[in-house]
Amino acid sequence: MAAAVWHGRRDIRTEDVPEPPPPPEGQVKVKVAWCGICGTDLHEYLGGPLYVPVDEPHPLTGVQAPVILGHEMSGDVVEVGPGVTRVKVGDRVALCPIIGCLECRWCKSGLMGLCPNIAFLGISWHGGGFAQYVNVHDYMCYQLPPEVSYEVGALVEPFAATYRAVKRTEVQPEETVAIVGTGPIGLMALQSAHIHGARRVVAVEAAAKRQELARECGATAVIDPAKQDPVAAIRDMTDGEGADVVIECAGVEATGILAGRMARRQGRIMVMGVFEEPAPLDYTDVVYGEKTIMGSMGGYGVFDEAIQAMAEGKLAGEILITGRIGLDNFLRDGLEAVIKHKEDNVKILVSPD
Ligand SMILES: [Zn+2]
Ligand SMILES: [Zn+2]
Repeated sequence: MAAAVWHGRRDIRTEDVPEPPPPPEGQVKVKVAWCGICGTDLHEYLGGPLYVPVDEPHPLTGVQAPVILGHEMSGDVVEVGPGVTRVKVGDRVALCPIIGCLECRWCKSGLMGLCPNIAFLGISWHGGGFAQYVNVHDYMCYQLPPEVSYEVGALVEPFAATYRAVKRTEVQPEETVAIVGTGPIGLMALQSAHIHGARRVVAVEAAAKRQELARECGATAVIDPAKQDPVAAIRDMTDGEGADVVIECAGVEATGILAGRMARRQGRIMVMGVFEEPAPLDYTDVVYGEKTIMGSMGGYGVFDEAIQAMAEGKLAGEILITGRIGLDNFLRDGLEAVIKHKEDNVKILVSPD
């Protein structure tokens, strides 16, 4: 079968690899419908290895590079291994990429995303979504209702991550949420904030095309940091207070500091951006303003809720899909296209067929 395989930094090849064997105990074989290209895939391509195990095998899965990439996928269950009851052949599913040890205190308490030996589909697992087939644990599969297409089904994973992050902020109906950076995660976090009942969601974004998308995704206002000081702008909108909740979705030094300062006294700052390096924060402002800094790791635990919200039409998913490509042109029309035309691309989906 064809698959996009990470061999090293700047070395990802679409090549022929063996199809997965019949699924072992507790696993199922999934035929991939669509798989989204994520910022993590870009990071592994341009600056990797970040999470791909290279020097030694992954402690939980034994996997070592080269690895098949892809962790935001939908597909059909085509074969089930012994002992599987959660799904059956023919089920349409989206996958949660998180693989835990099932034995530590985090896995046992429903927080598998915090497992110290965590592994990921498409990074440290025996396969990924940029391939025709992949074997996965049955617990990674979530049923897609008929209202959710395979294409939008490939957005379940990143959407669930934003859904969980917003949920953790305990946003209240009268509150104002600021989203710093409206790439794919920011645009989904924006919609998650509305779904969780935020009265007002303000986007901070410099790129014109993404400002437009933020409005289409329901932003009440858009602050252009090239034209306005975002801290002054958000205070103007909130009687001088600042945002109740700020969600940082850009992951660069300037936006990290900015997110902290945009929050009101006792406001909450949720960090979703992937920072390549440790970044500074205005700690005096955090102390004097009694601000809370939070993180959130993936969407494990809220997949069913997130899929339900999608089935109810609460996520404008289609407008986030800006490209559909095949595996043969994965590099040129996928990764390179996102790098060269960052503003024009939100989510590019890959089909192995
Ligand atoms: Zn991702
Ligand atoms: Zn664990």
